[in-house]
Amino acid sequence: MAKSKGEIVISEQFCKGCGYCVEFCPKDCVTIGDKFSAQGYQLPIFANEEDCTACAICGKMCPESAIEVYKFIS
Ligand code: SF4
Ligand code: SF4
Repeated sequence: MAKSKGEIVISEQFCKGCGYCVEFCPKDCVTIGDKFSAQGYQLPIFANEEDCTACAICGKMCPESAIEVYKFIS
């Protein structure tokens, strides 16, 4: 299995459940989970972590700036 190049952290506080991060991740690393935030939004989860390239598209597309992207230095 290839080593992950990065990871994302999704803020449960800021996410509004719009799903843009799911739609726009080119590697299908983000999916809608079954957990809801305190405000009642269905939260996305970081899946397929090994496929993440740390491209930061998810973070740029998020209208709530709810995603932090970390790139691993190897
Ligand atoms: S950084 Fe890129 S590859 Fe990783 S989850 Fe976000 S959009 Fe997908
Ligand atoms: S794009 Fe941002 S606000 Fe929309 S579901 Fe993803 S993390 Fe939540």
